[in-house]
Amino acid sequence: QAATTSTASSPTEYPTSHEQISQPIDTQMFVDNKFVSSKADQWIDLYDPATNNLVTRVPQSTQEEMKAAVESAQKAFPAWKATSVLARQQIMFKFVALIREHWDRLAASITLEQGKTFADAKGDVLRGLQVAETACGITTQITGEVLEVAKDMETRSYREPLGVIAAICPFNFPAMIPLWTIPIATVCGNTCIIKPSERDPGATMILAELAAKAGFPPGVLNIIHGSAKAVDFILDEPAIKAISFVGSNKAGEYIYQRASANGKRVQANLGAKNHCAVLPDCNKNHALNAISGAAFGAAGQRCMALSTLVLVGETKDWAPELAERAKELSMNGGFEEGADLGPVISPQARERIENLIASAEKEGATIVLDGRGQKPEKYPNGNWIGPTIIANVTKDMTCYKEEIFGPVLVCLNVPTLDDAIQLINDNEYGNGSAVFTRSGATATRFQKEIEAGQVGINVPIPVPLPMFSFTGNKKSVAGGGANTFYGKPGLQFYTQQKTVTSFWRSEDAVSTRAKVNMPTHS
Ligand code: NAD
Repeated sequence: QAATTSTASSPTEYPTSHEQISQPIDTQMFVDNKFVSSKADQWIDLYDPATNNLVTRVPQSTQEEMKAAVESAQKAFPAWKATSVLARQQIMFKFVALIREHWDRLAASITLEQGKTFADAKGDVLRGLQVAETACGITTQITGEVLEVAKDMETRSYREPLGVIAAICPFNFPAMIPLWTIPIATVCGNTCIIKPSERDPGATMILAELAAKAGFPPGVLNIIHGSAKAVDFILDEPAIKAISFVGSNKAGEYIYQRASANGKRVQANLGAKNHCAVLPDCNKNHALNAISGAAFGAAGQRCMALSTLVLVGETKDWAPELAERAKELSMNGGFEEGADLGPVISPQARERIENLIASAEKEGATIVLDGRGQKPEKYPNGNWIGPTIIANVTKDMTCYKEEIFGPVLVCLNVPTLDDAIQLINDNEYGNGSAVFTRSGATATRFQKEIEAGQVGINVPIPVPLPMFSFTGNKKSVAGGGANTFYGKPGLQFYTQQKTVTSFWRSEDAVSTRAKVNMPTHS
């Protein structure tokens, strides 16, 4: 039997610096509203990306532990489904209030484990919190439809929870992405298994603590840990009805196929190569600042990072000016005042990014700004790579074909808007795309013709708020993007439709002879 222990619960107990933790505490699981120590024999060391100091060890949860989490969720489901929507809404209100109260603590965990700056980590939490806030409106969102389809007969539609659902999360938004699932799935009456990224599960663990405090009954939210084996367990576990995945194409395409083959619903948001077309008539100052922020913020580790610049016409000469703006950004430990970007997630990620920059050089591109070898004085051991701008890139280069997922902006030149649209549409990814122009006609054409899920007009990172849905396109979503995250489609994903047709007529008015033809209600 696994031992249970408590965890820090005061909002004031959280790290505020990258100092070495003297005695790192192993990450626990969360089952039945209890923090549970794993009996795993395999553990993943988690290092602070700014220092490479050990922060914690994350277990590869055992098959028995993962099964126990699913059983807990299964056991909790009937009563949670039967709990009134008003009662579930009340718990969601409390959950929202607690996330706000623990906002800094959640952000600190993200800065320590993921590396992004504290201000950016607060944004990570806020974007997830907004999903929870929107989920509080469930009482008007989940209503069905009704029509009197014939005399004394009506059809009503309902949305019912699916049962146990699971989320498999990436490293880059440790609070926002678990919160794309937890609020909507639970407020609809489902119970959940969350597998956070093994690289930064801390924020999810805090969310679990807050969920229990908010009044979620035991078993409604459970957390297991691990990598590929834990994922395979989720994909093959018959009790799990639906899977929400966010992450790379490599993992996501496999997950989509295997889970679908097992009869599960899957929503899967994958990788990206977000292009931005810059027109000569744009507000140059706004465009350069917006592009620099969106390319290098979070060290480029956002699925909506602006990683590819399409310089139209005379804007081909703007790369050096952009480099001047990028040079002004401060790369530092995320807890440091004024830090604009932190490290990348791991030494392996840094090496991969550096290799991609080297490949661009070899294949004939121009390195306008080189972030290789840069490091802040105070943190010599982190996974540092400064803002990098590569100009004169062409479509056949490796740095264009691969998602870099680091603070690297590749720039391609095209003569006209038509060429820009063609280039962007030829790319296999279609997550986000932006255009900078002062012309309404140009913007409208771009918006209509571009094949990307999320379009920004003078907006570099057009991630929709939760009253809309996150609408990737092409290779950036699995399954053709039918099941998108949050908004109305998110609610549909976590519910099963049921229609009820009823007939109420006084007995003496009902015919005494059976009718055998297909009923048409006419
Ligand atoms: P990742 O695919 O490596 O990991 C995501 C999850 O999948 C993790 O929980 C991990 O344990 C699991 N996983 C990894 N490899 C696996 C395998 N071989 N088999 C089974 N499971 C596996 O992704 P990441 O590096 O954590 O995140 C970065 C990626 O996520 C980028 O490609 C980024 O574009 C993408 N992303 C997309 C969105 C979006 O909404 N489109 C949002 C955030 C991140």
